[in-house]
Amino acid sequence: MRTVIYPGSFDPLTNGHLDVIQRAGKLFDRVIVAVAQNESKNPLFTLAERLEMVSKCVGHLPNVETDAFDGLLVNYVEQRGAQAIVRGLRAVSDFEFEFQLALMNRKLNERIETIFMMPKDTYTFLSSRIVKEIARLGGDVSSFVPGQVREALVGRLGRKE
Ligand code: ADP
Repeated sequence: MRTVIYPGSFDPLTNGHLDVIQRAGKLFDRVIVAVAQNESKNPLFTLAERLEMVSKCVGHLPNVETDAFDGLLVNYVEQRGAQAIVRGLRAVSDFEFEFQLALMNRKLNERIETIFMMPKDTYTFLSSRIVKEIARLGGDVSSFVPGQVREALVGRLGRKE
């Protein structure tokens, strides 16, 4: 059983994240989307809200699970019996940080591999941060996030399109 962990804040989940989840699901027997607590990032949605959004949006994918994690990622990966971590790479700008993170995780536990996946080109400009900004300004985010996430964003940020 090959298991991969897809960690992130998912504040909120976007179609870019979903694209990576679907691609990983074709390569691995099981994908665990691990939603990080990340209080230091001051998330718009609570951990419980982010978990609920992710699990609703991946409900149709039979080999994808959702979980919460806190603490050191490599410890969580071992604890879940996974072999790898998947991260998304959108542009060169993601590379430096992701490269550092992957090599540090390898230093901490050399049995765990990090793999990178590129989303469909139309999602390479998408980030949770930019989606929140558009929603906050009253823009239409329906082509960037799943329907449930759009509703949650409109509800939280208080503007109707
Ligand atoms: P983090 O706080 O860990 O960066 P994010 O939720 O922002 O969490 O992102 C989780 C992972 O998904 C990261 O590897 C990030 O590069 C990737 N990612 C974010 N947006 C996209 C996208 N539009 N396409 C592909 N990968 C993405």
